[in-house]
Amino acid sequence: MKIICIGRNYADHAKEMKSALPTEPIYFLKPDTSLLKEKVFYLPKFTKDLHFECEIVIKIDRVGKNIPLEYAHKYYSQFTLGIDFTARDLQQECKEKGLPWEIAKSFDNAAPISESWLNKDEYDLNDLSFQFFQNEELKQDGKTRDMIFSVDTLITYVSQFITLKTGDLLYTGTPAGVGQVHIGDVLTGYIEGVKVLELEVA
Ligand code: MG
Repeated sequence: MKIICIGRNYADHAKEMKSALPTEPIYFLKPDTSLLKEKVFYLPKFTKDLHFECEIVIKIDRVGKNIPLEYAHKYYSQFTLGIDFTARDLQQECKEKGLPWEIAKSFDNAAPISESWLNKDEYDLNDLSFQFFQNEELKQDGKTRDMIFSVDTLITYVSQFITLKTGDLLYTGTPAGVGQVHIGDVLTGYIEGVKVLELEVA
């Protein structure tokens, strides 16, 4: 499986990163070794500024290529929350040098994921609210209606370039409020008021 992550999909986050708003979706990949289903994340030594980015994650459940927009909704049925961990210091260096972002985004355990999946038929995916807390302090308060590109648009766009396969994950971008994590932090995430994610940083 592969992990497809969308960048700059919320205007308020693009603004806090001093990045331009995209006119087409921006994506990058994390390998399967980035997936973390455990409850503990060990802070890696190669970064001094690891940031959380809480994101709605879609699980792809059909193989598809060049998926038309009107059929995109048939390619997933479940979603949850995940964290797109980012070594912000390394990413900044990559940006300045025009280098790819993999060392900053695609390291082992850089994609924690909840094991509680929600069924899309029971929610309006285009009007979800989700929150992320660091040590019980609200850091990110997202609304999927603020996404620049909808989930279906993202699926259609990405599938022009990469075949989507069953079990692939789509991290749909983070709202404003990203910040640094520290050893001892407890990170929690909620969708529509229901806790789906809890991760301890060690
Ligand atoms: Mg992200």
